[in-house]
Amino acid sequence: MQTSVVLFTCDLRLSDHPPLRAALHGGGRVVPLFVRDRSVDGAGFAAPNRLAFLADCLNDLDARLRERGGRLVLREGDTVTEVCRVAAEADADEVHMAGDVSAFAQSREQRLRRALEADGRRLYVHDTVSTAVAPGAVTPASSDHFAVFTPYYRRWSAEALREALGTPRTITVPEEVGSAALPKRADVSGVSPGLCAGGETEGRRGLGAWLRSGVDTYEEGHDDLAGDATSRLSPHLHFGTLSPVEVVRRTRKAGGAGAEAFVRQIAWRDFHRQVLAARPDAAVRDYRTRRDRWRGANGARADAEAWREGRTGYPVVDAAMRQLRHEGWMHNRGRLLAASFLTKTLYVDWRVGARHFLDLLVDGDLANNQLNWQWMAGTGTDTRPNRVLNPVLQGKRYDPDGAYVRRWVPELADVKAPYVHEPWKLPEEERAGTGYPAPVVSLAEGLERFRRAREHS
Ligand code: FAD
Repeated sequence: MQTSVVLFTCDLRLSDHPPLRAALHGGGRVVPLFVRDRSVDGAGFAAPNRLAFLADCLNDLDARLRERGGRLVLREGDTVTEVCRVAAEADADEVHMAGDVSAFAQSREQRLRRALEADGRRLYVHDTVSTAVAPGAVTPASSDHFAVFTPYYRRWSAEALREALGTPRTITVPEEVGSAALPKRADVSGVSPGLCAGGETEGRRGLGAWLRSGVDTYEEGHDDLAGDATSRLSPHLHFGTLSPVEVVRRTRKAGGAGAEAFVRQIAWRDFHRQVLAARPDAAVRDYRTRRDRWRGANGARADAEAWREGRTGYPVVDAAMRQLRHEGWMHNRGRLLAASFLTKTLYVDWRVGARHFLDLLVDGDLANNQLNWQWMAGTGTDTRPNRVLNPVLQGKRYDPDGAYVRRWVPELADVKAPYVHEPWKLPEEERAGTGYPAPVVSLAEGLERFRRAREHS
C-alpha cells in the first residue's frame, strides 16, 4: 500500500486542500505532518499571538483528522530533517506540500527536494493552496511579476479558478509514526487579551457568517473604523484555515453588493505574494529605493516608542496602535494611518514599524505586512509614493463621531467630536485634565521634514 506524507505549513485545513487530496488519491495511508521549526523564531515568526492562534489551529486540525480516523503528527526541529525522518519511519514514497513565497520557504523547498530525492523519494509542491491564483501564473509581457496592482487585478480577475475540493471522509495514518504533544493556547504567554480564536472550524464559521450578513455592506463600510465592518478573516487566510480559492468562489456565488469589492482584497493578497515570490529580498530591502536616509538618532527612537505605545498625541493613530496591542489585529484604515504616520510624519524606517506589526499581528504575514508597509512608505508598489495621510482629516472622515478613538483611548472617552481628533484645541485646563499627551511633532513640521528628505529621491 502506498504511503505519503502531507507536510502542513500555512494551510492548516482539511477542506479544499490539494496536497492532501493528491496524497489520498491512490487510497493509501497518509501522515499529516506539522513541523514546529524553531530556526525561524529569531526572524519574528514566533510572536505569542500567532503561536496561540497556531495552537488552536493544530488542535482543531487534529480533532478534524480524528473524526475521519486519522490524527495529526507533530514534530519539532529542522523541517527538512524531520520530514525525511518521518518519511523513513512511515516508509513513504512521496511528500506533498503547498508552495510558498518567502526566501525561507523557497530555500526550504529546495533543500527538502534534494534531501528526499537523495533518499529515493519525491516531493510534490502544489500551488493555489495559499493563493487563489498562483504566483507567476499571470505576468506582464516584460517582467516575471506585476509591479502595479490595477493591471494585475485585471488579469487576475480573468483567470479561471480551479474547483474547490471537498473534505476527505477517511484518513488512515500509519500507527508506527509517533507524535510530540500538541501545543496548548493556554501555555503561550504574552498573548493579547482580545485575541480571536483559531482553527478551521472557527474560520469556516466566520466565512459563513460573513457571507450571510457582512459582505453586502463591505463596499461602503470597509473604511468605517468604528463600524468594524470588514471580514476579520485575515488570520484564517494567513494560517490557511480558509482556502482563498474557496473564499473567492463562495463570495462570487453569494453575489450581492460588496462581493466584488471584497474579492478585490483577496487579489491584493495574491498580488503581494507574487511580488515576494519574484523578489524575496523585498521582505527586508526597499522594493524601489527612494534613497531614504531615515532618522536614526535618539529622537527617532523616542518617537518610535511613543508610536508603539499609542502615545503620539494623534488620537486615531494611538487608537489603532492600542487596538493592535489589545487584539493582535488592527483595522486596515488604522494600519494605513499608523504606517503613514511612522514612515512619513516621523520619517522612521518602515522596517521598524513592520517588525512591531509582526511582533503583534495575529495575521502577521511576510508578504502582506512588508509589502503593505513598503506601499505606505513609498518604497514599494504605490504609484503615488510621496502621499502622506493626515491623521486629523482621516480621523474626521473615517471616525466622524470619534467612537473608534473613544473605544481605544480612554483618556478621551468624554471628549466630543471634533475635539476628539484634535484634543490640543480643547481649552488648556480641560486638555490637561484628560492626561492625553501633546503631539510628538506638529503635522506641518513632519510634512516639511519628509518633503525635504524626498526631494532628492
Ligand atoms: P478584509 O477587508 O475583510 O479583506 C479580506 C482579506 O483580503 C483580508 O483578510 C486579507 O487577506 C486581504 N486583504 C485585505 N486588504 C489587503 C491589503 N491591503 N493587502 C493585502 N491583502 C489584503 N494583511 C495581512 O493579512 N497580514 C499582514 O501582516 C498585514 N499587514 C499590513 C500592514 C500594513 C501597514 C497595512 C497597511 C496593511 C496590512 N495588511 C496585512 C492588509 C490589511 O490591512 C489586512 O489584511 C486587513 O486589515 C485584515 O482585515 P480583514 O480580514 O477584516 O480584511
